[in-house]
Formats: sequence, C-alpha cells, structure tokens
Amino acid sequence: MEVRFDGKRALVTGAGKGIGRDTAKALVKCGAEVFALSRTQEDLDSLVQEYPGIQPVQCDLGDPEATKAAVESVGPIDLLVNNAGIIILQPFLDVTLDAFDKVMNTNVRAVLQVSQIVAKGMVERGTGGSIVNLSSLVSKSVLKEHTSYCASKGALDVMSKVMALELGPHKIRVNTVNPTVVLTDMTRKIGYGDPAKAGPILARIPLGKLVEVDDVVNAILYLLSDKAAMVNGTHLPIEGGFLTS
Ligand code: NDP
Repeated sequence: MEVRFDGKRALVTGAGKGIGRDTAKALVKCGAEVFALSRTQEDLDSLVQEYPGIQPVQCDLGDPEATKAAVESVGPIDLLVNNAGIIILQPFLDVTLDAFDKVMNTNVRAVLQVSQIVAKGMVERGTGGSIVNLSSLVSKSVLKEHTSYCASKGALDVMSKVMALELGPHKIRVNTVNPTVVLTDMTRKIGYGDPAKAGPILARIPLGKLVEVDDVVNAILYLLSDKAAMVNGTHLPIEGGFLTS
C-alpha cells in the first residue's frame, strides 16, 4: 500500500524525538510539506540537518500563549499529528497536583488548543483534513503508577471521538493510535530498556515482540491518508494482540 501526501501541509508535534521525529521524516518521504514542532531546539536542528525540507517550530506546548503564536505562524495545515506527550510515574496515593496538571496540560489541553487552531482553518477553507492523536493502550488496559498518564490518554480518546463527531461534517477525520510499549527516550527513562520491566508486557503479546516505532508511524500514515477515508472516531490499538490475552 503506497500512500502519498504531495501538495499537503503537515504539522507534527513532539517531532524532536521518538515517534514524532520518525513520523515527520516519513511524511516528508511521502511528499508532504512538514512542520516539526518541538520543545528542544537541538533536536529540531539535527532533524533539519537530516531533512533540510522540514520546517522547524520551537515551542513548549505547556505554554498556551507560545502555543497559539507558534501554531498560528505555520499557516494552513491539512494533516495534523498530535504526538507530543509526557509521562510522570507516581503511585496513586502520591500523585501530586503539579504532576497531574503537567501531564494533562501536555497530553490533553495542548491537543485541544493545537487542534482548535488547525481545524478552524480547515473549516474556513472547506478543504477537510485528517488528524491523528497519539493515545496509548493504557487507556484500555491500565498500569500501576500511571494514574496521570492513563487519565490523560483516556481523556484524549474521548475528546478525539467528540472531535470526530463535530468535525466530520467538515470532512475532517479524527482518529487515535493506541500503542503498547515502544522503546523510545520516554520509555527508556522509566525503565523499559530493562528486560525485567518490559518482560511482563512482552509476555502478553502473542506475536512475541515489542511494538517498534515504524509500526506506529505506518498506522499514523494510514489514518492520515485517503486509504482510511471512512475511518473516523476510532482508536487503533497497536499491540500485537496484547488485548486478547
Ligand atoms: P519521546 O519522549 O521519545 O518524544 C516526545 C517528544 O515530544 C519529544 O521531542 C519532546 O520534546 C516532545 N514534547 C514533550 N512535551 C512537549 C511540550 N510541552 N512541548 C513541545 N514538545 C514536547 O516520546 P515517544 O516518542 O515515546 O511518545 C510520543 C507519543 O506517543 C506520546 O504522546 C506518548 O504518550 C505516545 N505513546 C508512546 C508510547 C511508548 O511506549 N513510547 C506508547 C504509547 C503511546 P522534549 O524532549 O524536548 O521535551
């Protein structure tokens, strides 16, 4: 299945590292004009060095005013990938309000804000579009110490459905991808590089291997593309059969 995005303008948030970075590169390879938004300037510099066609947008999505200015500056967007996300692990009884707010602000509020700006433009132009939000399998199958993160991804799933419902009449499709553990900076920082920590997840995956970044990127490309023209408001698990066990 070949997908092409020639003539389309794409915005990927959290494109400095991990899944977002590889999504930005894949979109360029498929012909899109890509805007890569992320927090750390050095990540954007190295991305542009690798792919000079990518347009970097430095922004901390935790700052609503900076977010508004940055997203408005990129102009019309046809394809939006809300990928930026953070995780803070704390046992439920020790969850701090500060950590909860930080996770919810990045993983949910920023998606709301970025999508509103982008989707208003899509509605005004009447050209439609496609939005993919990076959720997680933890919205379906929770993990200990993931209270804030699970709450954020559960909220993101439901918000995405409302977006699909309200934006569908404007030819804007909204879907989520919901992967289980993928080894990236995010998951390595919380110990998943250690087979002892990843083992219980792996044991529940009938295909016998962890999800890789490319597996997620391919699903994002599919949902962004016209191949998914009638897929709207769905949550696509990427988990090798984890939920069957
Ligand atoms: P990484 O931590 O590897 O990369 C996340 C990227 O998002 C970084 O470039 C980071 O920039 C950026 N980012 C985070 N917060 C902000 C912010 N406030 N403003 C701007 N940019 C920001 O994460 P992954 O690639 O692993 O995860 C990507 C998405 O996929 C997330 O939404 C995550 O929840 C989801 N996901 C990941 C899974 C996994 O196992 N890895 C599984 C399921 C879902 P910086 O480093 O500069 O802060």
